[in-house]
Amino acid sequence: MISSLVRQNIKQLKPYSSARDEYKGKKASVFIDANENPFGTLLNRYPDPLQEELKRAIAEVKQVPAECIFLGNGSDEAIDLSYRVFCEPRVDNVVAIDPTYGMYEVCANINDVEYRKVALDEHFQMKADDLLAACDSHTKLIFICSPNNPTGNDLSREEIVKVIEGFKGIVIVDEAYSDFSTQRPLRLDLDKYENLIVYNTFSKAYGCAAIRLGMAFASAEIIGYFNKVKYPYNVNVLTQHKATEVLSTEMSKTCKHINLIIDERATVMEAFAQLPLCERVYPSNANFFLAKVTDANSIYNYLVDKGIIVRNRNSVNMCGNCLRITIGTKEENTQLLSALRVYKP
Ligand code: PMP
Repeated sequence: MISSLVRQNIKQLKPYSSARDEYKGKKASVFIDANENPFGTLLNRYPDPLQEELKRAIAEVKQVPAECIFLGNGSDEAIDLSYRVFCEPRVDNVVAIDPTYGMYEVCANINDVEYRKVALDEHFQMKADDLLAACDSHTKLIFICSPNNPTGNDLSREEIVKVIEGFKGIVIVDEAYSDFSTQRPLRLDLDKYENLIVYNTFSKAYGCAAIRLGMAFASAEIIGYFNKVKYPYNVNVLTQHKATEVLSTEMSKTCKHINLIIDERATVMEAFAQLPLCERVYPSNANFFLAKVTDANSIYNYLVDKGIIVRNRNSVNMCGNCLRITIGTKEENTQLLSALRVYKP
């Protein structure tokens, strides 16, 4: 069933076979197959194209089989690959909740694929029936993000499952922020849904935005198509080593950070709600929250003058006069709140 959704040229594609793909055999000590510099600089060898050691570590932490993991240069690579594998430019379309993370639409435009937006309700929740009603026989992907960016809330699990079960194409659930939520991650239910792809990232809870490492979890069949299309050495060796180290030695620090951020989120949201300039703080299950304020543009500029940068979401659909605020350190959050307490319209 999945193969019938894949673009014909991708199904027929004979992928590039790198030197490191071709040699997989007995232990060897002389590598003169890849035109590398033979003098050891620690970085003179190409990295493992399929990142097998790192995937074994991720499999354990994320409880997903290694063959169901794709790794890329940020989740943004996984987003782009999802289009390139499944969507025929100018023929197919995708459906997504609105508002949501902007890269789904940018990648649709880059790939010349129609992007259909389905508005969330006033609680920033989605209705499965609305998403399904926006689909036609050329809809290949549905994008859902939970917790959603920029709104911060978990989407109803019941509605998400209804979409996965009711749609004949691929459903993508971006769980970039799921470490900050109490909802059970959907990646743990991969074996139930052959049409599900879940994205995760090292950029948020794991504190590794700089290394650019994104994950997609899906059936081994879907991951096989991603591997066929990706650049041969898409994750560099520095990133692979750092991520393996984080998973093996820094997970307790990561858990501590997540708990600190969740605690601080409650404190900051409560204090923010008390500010005279605050009209509404929306519920959050992420490491940021969305707040409606009296005048987002003016408050944004006021904060910039003080050297404090938040995300102005004023021009995003349904987010008029909204600022998106990431939970910082205690000191950073105090600076933000102190500055806003003396703001004069
Ligand atoms: N998904 C969502 C929902 C995001 O908000 C972001 C980053 N803002 C990403 C994915 C991108 O993550 P990465 O750094 O892994 O490309």
